[in-house]
Amino acid sequence: DDRIARIASAIRVIPDFPKPGIMFQDITTLLLDPKAFKDTIDLFVERYKGKDISVVAGIEARGFIFGPPIALAIGAKFVPMRKPKKLPGEVISEEYSLEYGTDKMEMHVGAVQAGERALIIDDLIATGGTLCAAIRLLERVGVHVVECACVIELADLKGRERLGDRPLFVLVSST
Ligand code: IMP
Repeated sequence: DDRIARIASAIRVIPDFPKPGIMFQDITTLLLDPKAFKDTIDLFVERYKGKDISVVAGIEARGFIFGPPIALAIGAKFVPMRKPKKLPGEVISEEYSLEYGTDKMEMHVGAVQAGERALIIDDLIATGGTLCAAIRLLERVGVHVVECACVIELADLKGRERLGDRPLFVLVSST
């Protein structure tokens, strides 16, 4: 698929951000290329249309960019998975570990119902800790996670292995 090469080349890599030694994959340049951005959404929609997915769960912040257009195109609801203390209603939360310390992810109670089928979307999987927290949040309330999808996978970090038997679909694998 020649769309993948265009998407890959539209992603900018910024060395030493946010700290020395990190090669940051910057998707904002992908958003500046309307064709590459549309191809990104189209590839996900082609994969998930007709799969009976009723929930697209997007992870703050860049899952909020890719998730909603996919949700609209496949006729699913969009559910934001947010950083702590952002959602105004009653929430359930999951803690997850970062390189230094921990963080939390929150979802509104009542946003999803047991038995629904969900796709989780983020821009990038590194260690997989963030996606795992989102999986736990949804599975705790009886939602079936059909698949996790990211634009980019940092394959060397083997985050895919942490997801257990939930499939991971990525457009660009980077080493
Ligand atoms: P993980 O939990 O280690 O898989 O880290 C994934 C999370 O960190 C995602 O929410 C990403 O948006 C973010 N992240 C980590 N590295 C990068 C990067 O190079 N570019 C953009 N986001 C990143």
